[in-house]
Amino acid sequence: MSSQIQYTIQISRRARHVRLKISRLEGLVVVIPSGFDPGRVPQIVSEKADWINRTQNNLAKQPQPANPELVHALPACIRLPLTGETWKVEYVQSKSRGLTLTYPGDLTIRLTGTVTNKPLIQAALRRWIRQRAKTILPMLLTDMARQLGFKVNAITIRNQRTRWGSCSRNKNVSLNQKLIFLPQELVRYIMLHELCHTQVMSHSQRFWSLVARHDSQYKMKIKALRTAMKYLPVWA
Ligand SMILES: [Zn+2]
Repeated sequence: MSSQIQYTIQISRRARHVRLKISRLEGLVVVIPSGFDPGRVPQIVSEKADWINRTQNNLAKQPQPANPELVHALPACIRLPLTGETWKVEYVQSKSRGLTLTYPGDLTIRLTGTVTNKPLIQAALRRWIRQRAKTILPMLLTDMARQLGFKVNAITIRNQRTRWGSCSRNKNVSLNQKLIFLPQELVRYIMLHELCHTQVMSHSQRFWSLVARHDSQYKMKIKALRTAMKYLPVWA
């Protein structure tokens, strides 16, 4: 498990002992006294794995701090775990009103215009995310449906606040555009969940056996989804 824990090491002249700090902004930081062997850090992190996971999960559950700097933070890059892409975001101030989004190079988007207007930029980025989601998610769901033998009618991409997906009686599946920020295995579970609803609408025993038939690890995914908000950028 410890190999999955991400952290940065900070060397401190004043520190006398190794100390672990966890914050929303910096994640896990391991502070070590100068002269301490950084090679010992992985072992320390692995011994503290339970505490680290607990603290990180608690942090993810807390409401977002009302720090305007953080709330209005604009990304320099956007990582999409679902496709493995990392997009660079450039901001170019110009006299034109509004914002124009262009693609000046590979995996780069450029926003030109009133780049001091943060809500405007966030709205533009959300529109872009919606487009990416519309390209990526229906393809993935259609592939999964075909492979697993489910029938889907229409697929809609939305920016829901509280749901990752839903499925209607007519087998119309609706997916949240924010899914493209989630790890692949969680997205696959959500898609499987909605696909199973095309056959069983209720969350009955029959429904969960159908889910389990395609994903024996589904309970772990449900648990992981409780803290999945931590994967979403503040502007999304
Ligand atoms: Zn359901």
